[in-house]
Amino acid sequence: MNPDPDYSAAYVVLRTDLGDGHGFCFTIGRGNEVCVAAIRAHAPLVTGRALDLDDLGGFAKGLLHDSQLRWLGPEKGAVHMAAAAIINAAFDLAGKVAGKPVWKLLADMSPEQIVDLADWRYLTDALTPADATDLLADMLPGRNAQEARLLQYGFPAYTTTPGWLGYSDDKLVRLARQAVAEGFSQIKLKVGVDVAADVRRMRLAREAVGPGVRIAVDANQRWDVPEAIEWVRALAPFDPYWIEEPTSPDDVLGHAAIRRAVAPVKVATGEHVANRVIFKQLLQAGAADVLQLDACRVAGVTENIAILLLAARFGVPVCPHAGGVGLCEVVQHLSMFDYVAVGGSTRGRVLEYVDHLHEHFADPVRIVDGHYVAPSRPGLSTEMKAASLADHLHPGGPVWRNA
Ligand SMILES: [Mg+2]
Repeated sequence: MNPDPDYSAAYVVLRTDLGDGHGFCFTIGRGNEVCVAAIRAHAPLVTGRALDLDDLGGFAKGLLHDSQLRWLGPEKGAVHMAAAAIINAAFDLAGKVAGKPVWKLLADMSPEQIVDLADWRYLTDALTPADATDLLADMLPGRNAQEARLLQYGFPAYTTTPGWLGYSDDKLVRLARQAVAEGFSQIKLKVGVDVAADVRRMRLAREAVGPGVRIAVDANQRWDVPEAIEWVRALAPFDPYWIEEPTSPDDVLGHAAIRRAVAPVKVATGEHVANRVIFKQLLQAGAADVLQLDACRVAGVTENIAILLLAARFGVPVCPHAGGVGLCEVVQHLSMFDYVAVGGSTRGRVLEYVDHLHEHFADPVRIVDGHYVAPSRPGLSTEMKAASLADHLHPGGPVWRNA
């Protein structure tokens, strides 16, 4: 589905008298200018206004419920991604002002403060703010121990490096073995172009990593529901761990049907899910075993807090989507907050790692023995290096002038 990505980002710097916050949403090329325009459309709601860092939930709602901009969504597509970029920039600033990485900023908040960040509109049939507060309060006694474990061991990662379509069988086998040697306990293969080739690749990968390493497969929305079921059943003898994005991200009932038909293979989805309401429906319909939130597609940290709380309520693990431009940098904060204060466990949780574009970030992720090391630098790790921004600025930057 994504044969020719041209990784791009609409980048926001929120300049305030307290300092600067950085955020972005990423695209795979054409349409990036639409996100830039959508971000600019929010400027009248932000420029010259007071920013209360103790009420970022209110700040987010002010962007998301603007009565005119809302017409473009509501709460989906480019206008929503634009809000994500701005909201994440505000959290980056809040972390910098507090002198804390954002995972820690959130994990140090009271249950009431966390619940106040989320937008509860459309969620209360599944989870009320009062129940969410109780859920967070139950986790309070364990927070210190969880944080100590996080700092000691990091957060488990999996790698997509071996499994891109187009790699030779030899390369797949070599990279799969290398991933295990590097300490990863899960790898992922892209599938969905040719069933016979996928069965062959899956068999080779399983032989390469042995029975103890999980192999997830990712179809990037290629299939209709019956085709998804047939395809996953063909791969089932090689014990795939989850099938990711088997069909349209909007098709809640389709995911539920696939899940019933392919169990015990798990169904994972979320990187293209538009907002918390669809996540709520996926959970209510029993349509997913694994939720894959995205830091920049839904409305940033605040909406992702709602998604983490919903997932905890339904007992479904969240394994965020990463890769793209800077997603690893941002989602690590969400998974680490989840671990310390919400889900309280790494059971069934693993964070995607793609070895790609980290060199452009001021505080790039660090992976040791297949685990993300908890970032210590204040902020949301969203800030790109000034030189990378200058070089890649469209259309005037040298990378474009020389293209
Ligand atoms: Mg994917």
